[in-house]
Amino acid sequence: MALVGDGIPGRGHLRRLVAHGRKVFGLGVWLGRVTDSRRAPRTAARLIATTVFYTGLLRIRSFNALEPRLGEKPFLGLVGARLDQERLCSVDTVGRCLCRMDPSSVRAVVIAMLAKAERNKVFREGWHGALRYVAIDGWEPFCSRHRHCPECLVRRVKVKAKDDSVVEVLEYYHRYAVALLIDERFDLVVDIEPLLPKDLRPVCVKGKGPTARLVKACLDEGEQTAATRLLKRVHETFGWIDVVVTDALYANGPFLTTVEALGMGAVVVARKETDEPLREALHQWADQAPHRVVEDAKARERIALWDCRDIETLMSYQGKIRCVRGSVTRLNRPEEDPSTWCMLVTGQATRLAPEKVLAVARARWHIENTAFHQWTTRWALAHVFRHHPQALRSLFWLFFAAYNLLTLFQYLHLRSYGRDCGKGVTRTLSRLVDLMLDELARSTGLDWDTS
Ligand SMILES: [Zn+2]
Repeated sequence: MALVGDGIPGRGHLRRLVAHGRKVFGLGVWLGRVTDSRRAPRTAARLIATTVFYTGLLRIRSFNALEPRLGEKPFLGLVGARLDQERLCSVDTVGRCLCRMDPSSVRAVVIAMLAKAERNKVFREGWHGALRYVAIDGWEPFCSRHRHCPECLVRRVKVKAKDDSVVEVLEYYHRYAVALLIDERFDLVVDIEPLLPKDLRPVCVKGKGPTARLVKACLDEGEQTAATRLLKRVHETFGWIDVVVTDALYANGPFLTTVEALGMGAVVVARKETDEPLREALHQWADQAPHRVVEDAKARERIALWDCRDIETLMSYQGKIRCVRGSVTRLNRPEEDPSTWCMLVTGQATRLAPEKVLAVARARWHIENTAFHQWTTRWALAHVFRHHPQALRSLFWLFFAAYNLLTLFQYLHLRSYGRDCGKGVTRTLSRLVDLMLDELARSTGLDWDTS
């Protein structure tokens, strides 16, 4: 097979990707099941969902950029619309439909794709310790000082005024807890959950019996509250995911208790040396030489490890927690201070060797580097196509379905999307999208439905 550009073989990628999406993942069927609540619409929700899906896949950066495409035969053919019409609809219609889409019907596209990949044994071997890992983290795609919607969170920020004085202004933003399946081959989006502003948070009952009273929240929701809802749903939907990986925000008893109640394991980065159980572990390790030293020739690193099982000093967690510390020295930079990581480990993850615990915790950067950075710089996810809570969620779901399909396609068909590609991964994906856009421009509009 001929190689072009960045090692991407052959041509006809878009055709193969469409065929792969349809045949392997039933993409046409699932996009066809997307519904909305518009009355007697002239353009069906499935066509608009498919349009937004390909807007994400082909990285069309705005509704302005999408507008001319809605009248082009190749694009109409790609989304499965009739070719004898002048244009599919206006971008206003796309926006209106997104506001009215049933989010569960859109989320089902992503769920179906992951469930099918699992049935096809894509994740069979797992990663370290043959376990499947999901990283959870907070993501803030955009903020605005002017426009807002009922689901916007709000904060006060200090800005410099024209006369150089400092003034406080309100800033509106959306934040989501995101779950990403991580392993050495690829990262796939599993689920997202918005953080709710205070007036949309559920009213809770304080006290018991006749003195009980309903209490409205006085603060916007914290990330852990949304992440807990998210993790429960992830576990309900994808029971085969074994371990959750998080940053230090989650190094607390209530979160570890939630994870344990779900029967999952946890690898949580711990930073605060004064907080239990890290405090106790550091106390025990104080004068001890490393319990284990590992040299990784490929990564050019020497890793010193300390390991302490069965710590029970965290009062808000009924169980034993393992603490691991890894100190990493770069072999080609011996003059540098080593970088040190501490992790809390529970459940099934406790069977990992300490260097594997460290590898899993360090893999959490995928979610920030590969996913969040790529979404913002390459996927136009920071652009607000339509500022409306439901429209945002539906658009993210469709873009994430496109992201997952492209990632799986590249791994399964091109095999060029390994960690071996290092920093080239994002560039390779961009090159692939460019080739697909060329291919679309040359197509006649009739040749996509190969199912
Ligand atoms: Zn908003």
